[in-house]
Amino acid sequence: MVTTTAAAPEGPARPDGWSVGLDVGGTKVQAVLLDADGGVHERRRVPTRRGLVGVVDSSAEAVEAVLHAGGVPAARLRGVGVGLPGVVDPRAGTVENAVNLGITGREPFAALLSHRLAGVQVQLENDLNAAVQGAAHVLDVVEGQPVDDLAFLALGTGLAAGLLLHGDLRRGARRAAGEIGHLIYRPDGLPCPCGQRGCLEQYASGSALDAAWPSPDDRPAPAALFEAAAAGDERAVEVRDAFVRAVVAAIRVLVLSCDPERIVIGGGVSELGGQLLACLVAELDRQAAASPFLATTAMPDRIRLVPPGLPVGAVGAALVFRAPTVGRPDEVGV
Ligand SMILES: [Zn+2]
Repeated sequence: MVTTTAAAPEGPARPDGWSVGLDVGGTKVQAVLLDADGGVHERRRVPTRRGLVGVVDSSAEAVEAVLHAGGVPAARLRGVGVGLPGVVDPRAGTVENAVNLGITGREPFAALLSHRLAGVQVQLENDLNAAVQGAAHVLDVVEGQPVDDLAFLALGTGLAAGLLLHGDLRRGARRAAGEIGHLIYRPDGLPCPCGQRGCLEQYASGSALDAAWPSPDDRPAPAALFEAAAAGDERAVEVRDAFVRAVVAAIRVLVLSCDPERIVIGGGVSELGGQLLACLVAELDRQAAASPFLATTAMPDRIRLVPPGLPVGAVGAALVFRAPTVGRPDEVGV
């Protein structure tokens, strides 16, 4: 899948096949430089400055930094793919409601960044849609076989999923596909900024862990919690297990609604690694033991963690531009 040669974009031929992918987050812009075969040559990160002008400038700096590191001039780029946390229209090249970036209106981000980069073609995508394609690419490399039917579950500030179903991104009729963080998990539970109460995101995200178990030092809250639980702290075990049950509820929703071949877990909490995976598998096994129906879905076999340190969002953003077989060409505008 990832080695497929993309149809040439408009403009001069780019025989070298280099592309840059950006994952624009609230605090940093992660950039990768990919070769024609999808190999990551360089990666760089720069701080994100808020507001439209700030985000465009930060993005341009990240592109320039990764090109400089790789010794590749901008003229040899096929283009730049950008994953943004907001409502993205890939065809129009616009983003709106990216509140974490300080962008509220509907803004022509692709044109602005292209102008800032002296005309390099820029393709936008929602960050989770980019990440699910990056996750497919990583699984392809790690497992040695293409996987084009998967969900990417991000356990970060929020909780949401990107869906790549039989090779097609599922964006949704109103771009709400995968917003499972706002399913009601606890009726009349914790208030959510979306206006509802008891949303799953309030129980199964990095922010939920920060609130439930504030880190006593400079370690991330998930690491502090899991360490305390492993040491036998009863309250920590309780908080950890409640979190694991909520993440399992998210996995269950994805499997029972879309039945994807793989569920790939990313976001900051996934950096817990094997100890998180072990807890999730134990809870899935416990539930399967009580339900012959759930047992038939073989959920533990489907879940994977993003390998540590791999910027799947940025990799996927580059692939969004380069691989029209992954995103439908009529939607990605190539
Ligand atoms: Zn909500």
